[in-house]
Amino acid sequence: MQLQGKAAIVTGSTSGIGLAIATRFAREGAKVMLNGFGEKDAIEKLRRGLADETGVEVRFSPADMSKPAEIRAMVAEAEEAFGAVDILVNNAGIQHVALVEDFPDERWEAVIAVNLSAAFYATKAAVPGMKKRRWGRIVNIASAHGLVASTQKAAYVAAKHGIVGLTKVTAIDYANDGITANAICPGWVLTPLVQKQIDARAAAQKIPVAQAAEDLLREKQPMLQFTSPEDLAALALFLVSDAAKTVTGATYTMDGGWTAQ
Ligand code: NAD
Repeated sequence: MQLQGKAAIVTGSTSGIGLAIATRFAREGAKVMLNGFGEKDAIEKLRRGLADETGVEVRFSPADMSKPAEIRAMVAEAEEAFGAVDILVNNAGIQHVALVEDFPDERWEAVIAVNLSAAFYATKAAVPGMKKRRWGRIVNIASAHGLVASTQKAAYVAAKHGIVGLTKVTAIDYANDGITANAICPGWVLTPLVQKQIDARAAAQKIPVAQAAEDLLREKQPMLQFTSPEDLAALALFLVSDAAKTVTGATYTMDGGWTAQ
């Protein structure tokens, strides 16, 4: 129970990596604010299930991460309900795939808003409380695409490179305030976000889904296996632990060797 007495917000935690991180943090004793989209009853079942299993307070905010006012309200609600936001995990993310010349303006704006600007607004809202308490942990879920590019992902790659930069600035702005900020750069993780890309590839090339998944891995990763959300949650747990108190401004890859090439 490494996080007893702490309170965390994990954005985009109704699914995938965010859900695994929120679950792990709650199991370690942290009060957790879930956030994300989804069916109302399913989210409530998730919230109640996690609260019942762990015995910690689990809340849900439906804040849309593309809307700064909703982000500020979510942070304020968590501070009010939990008494603090000690840990902020900026995880919500979306993808759109198209060549630059075909990239719809509206998709560019949406990907930058959710994958980059949301982390800025949430950090800006959470930092004053962390500073006052002289303890804070910010974990930004970037991507291998925060370090290298792939074709047809202009907005995503720009946002993920941006969040790596935001992480570094946050780390040095608050280096002596008890606050750390770090980025995690996963390679391929089999979540709904990636399943959509695999399904699109299978349909476009008229190949079985399993073949499309293997091709996707082979194209980028020397290691032909997906990273699990639970392994990423273990890395996030390390980054918010006391042992990581001098780890700041770092980018941790967990990418099967993708960016080692
Ligand atoms: P996912 O689609 O399973 O989950 C995304 C979460 O974000 C969901 O809870 C969704 O409801 C939420 N979300 C989307 N738009 C939102 C909005 N406007 N407001 C609030 N919540 C919103 O995806 P995932 O694969 O778990 O991705 C999580 C993060 O990890 C993303 O930032 C993604 O870029 C990053 N990532 C994923 C992979 C991968 O291979 N899956 C690799 C590298 C990085």
